Amino acid sequence: MSFDYDLFVIGGGSGGVRAARVAAATGAKVALAEEYRMGGTCVIRGCVPKKLMVFASGYSEMFDDARAYGWDVQDGPFDWGRFRKKLHAELDRLEGIYRKLLDGSGVEICDARAVIKDAHTVSLSTGKDVTAKHILVATGGHPVVPEIDGAELGITSNEVFLLNEMPKSILIVGGGYIASEFAGILNGLGVEVTQFYRGAQILRGFDDEARGLVAEGMRDKGIDLHLGTNIVEMRQATAEDRNEEGHAEGMPMEQGRPASVAPSGDGKGIWVKATNGTTKVYDQVLFATGRTPNTTNLGLQEAGITVGRRGEIVVDEFSQTNIPSIYAIGDVTNRVQLTPVAIREGMAFVETVFKGNPTPVDHALIPSAVFTQPELGTVGLTEEEARDIEPVEIYCSSFKPMNHAFAGREDRVLMKLVVSKETRKVLGCHIVADHAGEMIQLVGIAVKMGATKEDFDRTVAVHPTMAEELVTMKEPLRSA
Ligand code: NDP
Repeated sequence: MSFDYDLFVIGGGSGGVRAARVAAATGAKVALAEEYRMGGTCVIRGCVPKKLMVFASGYSEMFDDARAYGWDVQDGPFDWGRFRKKLHAELDRLEGIYRKLLDGSGVEICDARAVIKDAHTVSLSTGKDVTAKHILVATGGHPVVPEIDGAELGITSNEVFLLNEMPKSILIVGGGYIASEFAGILNGLGVEVTQFYRGAQILRGFDDEARGLVAEGMRDKGIDLHLGTNIVEMRQATAEDRNEEGHAEGMPMEQGRPASVAPSGDGKGIWVKATNGTTKVYDQVLFATGRTPNTTNLGLQEAGITVGRRGEIVVDEFSQTNIPSIYAIGDVTNRVQLTPVAIREGMAFVETVFKGNPTPVDHALIPSAVFTQPELGTVGLTEEEARDIEPVEIYCSSFKPMNHAFAGREDRVLMKLVVSKETRKVLGCHIVADHAGEMIQLVGIAVKMGATKEDFDRTVAVHPTMAEELVTMKEPLRSA
């Protein structure tokens, strides 16, 4: 049977684009459909704009630091309009690069929504049906908002980058990556940030000590973090609500892109009642309460593809669905929602299907960073996970780093190793520090290689650095 294409990819995010390009490089005839903008969540409304905002927000502390180091500088206001214009120009540039890379690899781009019709057919919103030997679903996910009265007044991380005004105050709901990262970003940009998390401590699943230090650092920087707290009810604030609160209007910014998001409630704000009984008016409410796979109206049921309880496409270790010609990678499979993992899954798919080399995706020991302020880098098991599996030794150092101590800042750093008593392998490493993401990338190599505590000890320290603590911690702080 002959097909129009060897591979049809649905979704132009990091995973889909990489799989399409690498498959085309093997000589396969490949097409890719994207209904919105090329680059997906990571490039358009995720990692990239988020990280640029982390950089922007970091400057607020640098004025004080610079003065402490002898510079004569004055604080100035942050111009969101100026930054936003530059940010979107950068995203446009990156989107252009993604398109160019696909073009250059010989991948046919369809700017259309694609729906699976059967095991080998895809229907495009242009009205055309195309056939392919293999179909790869890489449609990603989208933010979910809890069912609370008035929740439609809030925004999600999708809209943050499109705000046409920086709010004066914001309530962020959630305690995961996105909530905690945006709490730091917006606080750094001068927004009055309140964060509600329903559980006992933010960043559930990360090492307890590390989460504790991040939360403490966030509070020290001015974030009003409420644990065990959620929204009961919210509605558009009335003028009386606002007068009682004494809130000012949002900071004006330059109007720019057509797809911009106005401040909530026509500038009147949002009245929120919390589970702790308090009520308050915020200029904006941001829900960062998790993400769900993009699997609705994709033709999955019609094609007989198994979908899991959380709406995810169920795949095996080779990213193959129960329909042999259809594969899925990235957030739509709800395995590990991280860009580099989606890219790995895409490459393993090509290796398996187009290079005849069955390659399972390795999801073990994935290093990752949370770009909170302070930043958290982590790889491997937390102390809590490890001690449930085997006896471990905990090596831990918490201190004021040289640069902050000199500047008179209170920020503390955490360097922590979780070590197996039996094999001496470093099972986990957790770092809370400036540039923890950069550090954990490198520690990740050693941990992935199976380095022991003694391997760390044999490595000479780089002095004076924060990371030298990782190779100079002699005695375990405790056994667990
Ligand atoms: P997470 O799953 O990390 O966090 C969701 C948060 O919302 C949790 O704190 C959760 O609480 C809370 N929550 C869920 N439902 C409700 C509700 N009904 N009411 C109140 N709170 C609720 O999701 P995110 O949206 O933050 O991020 C999605 C994924 O994106 C992450 O898992 C991560 O893989 C990826 N990501 C990675 C980044 C990075 O690498 N730096 C940055 C941003 C995202 P509870 O803990 O109680 O369930």
